[in-house]
Amino acid sequence: MIRRNRAIARIGIISYMDLIFAGIIGFFAAMLANYLADTLPRGERPGRPHCLDCERELTWQNYLTLAACPHCHKRRSWRTFLTLGLGIALSLWLWSAPPPKLGYWPGLLLLTYFAVVVIIDFEHRYIMMTTVLAGAMLGLILGIFLHGWVNTLLGGLTGLGVMGAFYLLGLWFARYRARKRGIDDGEEALGLGDVYLSTVLGLLLGWPHILYGLFFGVLAGGLVSLLLILGLALMKRYQAMTVFTAYGPYLIFGAFLILYTPQVLTILSGR
Ligand SMILES: [Zn+2]
Repeated sequence: MIRRNRAIARIGIISYMDLIFAGIIGFFAAMLANYLADTLPRGERPGRPHCLDCERELTWQNYLTLAACPHCHKRRSWRTFLTLGLGIALSLWLWSAPPPKLGYWPGLLLLTYFAVVVIIDFEHRYIMMTTVLAGAMLGLILGIFLHGWVNTLLGGLTGLGVMGAFYLLGLWFARYRARKRGIDDGEEALGLGDVYLSTVLGLLLGWPHILYGLFFGVLAGGLVSLLLILGLALMKRYQAMTVFTAYGPYLIFGAFLILYTPQVLTILSGR
């Protein structure tokens, strides 16, 4: 009895230390995501940190200590702190319940990648080629590890094919509308970046799970768009341009559900 109590106490100490460790790792992963999202859009590669407001260069010490800009005194964006909080929380969650097959470290690496793509898409409304290429490499390696190379390549092709078809349909619809109205507002619901991103997610999820991932992604995107349109209509501020939404974050949300909470699939298949 005493021996067992001692064992429990030891486990308690270890998991307590583990949680601190996982929190610190999550903090650094979020710092990395913030850094890449801050610097990549400036020149397609990681560079020296700049103030996002006055665009003047920041010292590394200034940047890493999350201090206000010494030139314009603007504080760091709320996104910086939100990402840090989410990074710590998600790392703790992954540590205590590592996703089956994926595990803690690959899971955290992939989450960091997802965060960079989501932040850049929300803030700049596009998906960068650099992140697509990095994602394709990551997707190939993790995909082959998770479900073999045949299902990985088949998943990638499915992502490309399904979203490519949606993209062409969108182009056709925009052209049809432009001809009817006589104006071309240049509005594009789905960008080519979304097609590339779906290919990356296809490699990661593999065949046939990419179909579920895209389904959840499109569903979430459609739902948020609908709420946005309703909200704007209530405020009588509806304009076609204002409902333009970034689709990347929703596609990533769909992939996240399948990779990190595979219980969703068992519920779907009714097992
Ligand atoms: Zn500044």
